[in-house]
Amino acid sequence: RSKEKGGNSYHYYHPEMNKRSLHRLNLEIHLRKALERNEFVIYYQPIVDLRQGTVFGMEALVRWQHPEWGLVSPGEFIPLAEETGLIVPIGNWVLKEACIQTKAWQKKGYPSLVVSVNISAIQFHQIHFVQIVMNALEESGLSPDQLCLEITENVAMNNVPYIIETMQRIKALGVRISIDDFGTGYSSLSYLKRFRVNTLKIDQSFIRDLTCDEDNAAIVTALIAMSHRLKIKSLAEGVETKEQLDFLMSQGCDKIQGFVFSKPIPAADFELMIQKNKQLYLV
Ligand code: C2E
Ligand code: MG
Ligand code: MG
Ligand code: MG
Repeated sequence: RSKEKGGNSYHYYHPEMNKRSLHRLNLEIHLRKALERNEFVIYYQPIVDLRQGTVFGMEALVRWQHPEWGLVSPGEFIPLAEETGLIVPIGNWVLKEACIQTKAWQKKGYPSLVVSVNISAIQFHQIHFVQIVMNALEESGLSPDQLCLEITENVAMNNVPYIIETMQRIKALGVRISIDDFGTGYSSLSYLKRFRVNTLKIDQSFIRDLTCDEDNAAIVTALIAMSHRLKIKSLAEGVETKEQLDFLMSQGCDKIQGFVFSKPIPAADFELMIQKNKQLYLV
């Protein structure tokens, strides 16, 4: 507990806060070692093309396989990784690993898949970010159009010339760009005119109550219509039910991602899935 008195603050011992900062410190120490110990794994969640009825690609979602704590979800360590800057080496590892895996599946004879990789703002602001993307493509041999970078509105909206130039250079490589969690950031929408992204990922908070919340239904309908008019693909995230899926199809949504089709799964399971669904592609 702390108390303000005439400009001086008195800090008292607070067991809860102490416990939390200890936990944080412990987490940070382990996080620093996790990369060299190879403790990160990538789960893949299929992205389904509603028009073709095929698996279009997948999103790479990092997990931390800690020897004692088990599987730690990104929500529990990405914020700290961003605060400490560790997101840069972690994110760069995810990028390269996801490209290598996607190329490996292609070499095995599966149809070409597009892999989506989340890029945190801090990563995007690295001076050599474009070079890092080029290296990942070169070292994996993956075709640029099989890679999609997911950035948030806060990155895309940034009016700093350097950021716009970085986005243009990425686009010039032939790499795709998606806006993740669309509708939840501070969007002025003007950035959509300035820079043509490939896909808008409609945030799952709008999808959740889609079939019982009229406001969410209106927002989703409008976002799909807007993206069509702008010739940008629409992708709905967090689709869990058949009802949501039906609604999205009726509105002409291009792609979906969600538990209704599959959760994020380990690479080996993803491969089994594309094996089983192989005939799907041949339609
Ligand atoms: P995101 O990029 O928006 O990823 C979608 C999240 O929604 C994933 O959570 C996914 O498991 C979850 N999800 C997918 N379908 C459904 C559904 O039908 N219902 C529900 N309730 N959830 C669904 P996850 O894997 O825990 O990742 C959380 C966030 O962590 C991601 O949100 C992303 O912002 C971040 N993240 C994950 N991997 C990376 C990474 O490699 N780099 C960076 N910078 N961030 C990452
Ligand atoms: Mg994402
Ligand atoms: Mg998202
Ligand atoms: Mg998110």
